[in-house]
Amino acid sequence: MIYKKDFDYSFDENACKICGGKCCIGESGYIYASKEELEAIAAFLNLNFEAFKEQYLIKVGFKYSFKEVKHENGYRCIFFDTMYKKCLIYKHRPKQCKTFPFWEYFKTHKEELKEECIGVCFH
Ligand code: SF4
Repeated sequence: MIYKKDFDYSFDENACKICGGKCCIGESGYIYASKEELEAIAAFLNLNFEAFKEQYLIKVGFKYSFKEVKHENGYRCIFFDTMYKKCLIYKHRPKQCKTFPFWEYFKTHKEELKEECIGVCFH
């Protein structure tokens, strides 16, 4: 169980095994990554940055976000493997994914978080 200061919930990582990736599927949204994170993912995929960008990224203002793919429940992140229900770049996933569900946003959107993540336990 993971606890974080200033959050009134904790998170059980074991729930990820049975959830099916609800945090990587659903409404359309942005999954941002820093330049360093993107370079690490490109290297992991054995692609040069241009090829990586073409295949996996969209430009949003000055940033890059991961592409999304249509899914029966909305959209999925392009890196979410629906057959094995896991992130294909898990070790290199960006900070935005690593810090889920401890986002400032969820402090005021608790109902949404309850819907999205079965691993969350409110104190
Ligand atoms: S990068 Fe991985 S953990 Fe992050 S949204 Fe995509 S599939 Fe999920």
